[in-house]
Amino acid sequence: MTAQDTLRPVFTETFPSTMDTGILYVSIPYRTCGHLCCCGCGHEVITPISPAQWSIAYDGENVSLTPSIGNWALPCRSHYWIRHGHVQWSRHYSAAEIAQNRERDRHLLAQNTEEHRPRPLARLRRHLQSWRR
Ligand SMILES: [Zn+2]
Repeated sequence: MTAQDTLRPVFTETFPSTMDTGILYVSIPYRTCGHLCCCGCGHEVITPISPAQWSIAYDGENVSLTPSIGNWALPCRSHYWIRHGHVQWSRHYSAAEIAQNRERDRHLLAQNTEEHRPRPLARLRRHLQSWRR
């Protein structure tokens, strides 16, 4: 178990079945990033890229992820920022703070889902109607 101080970005379409430590996998087609928890516990951390979830900034060498990575669901409960490829550790959050953060995330995600989610089923139905005419 070695904690990571840096994460090197690898741009890829799909993630490998076994991720390497110290790598931040970035899939633009799937709008998702993945890495192994920086505490060294070996858990995969998947961060979807969307307005309500994470956004990435690439400076040509390194990637920053916003907001922070809060692995509340993992046994390690690690919490850190990824800024310009460097891992910046946060203090440990209390259970109440974690609950508050999770509630806020759920709220943001629910809003985003209602307002911005594409409706492929509705589109498909329209397509089928026009095709029958
Ligand atoms: Zn961990």
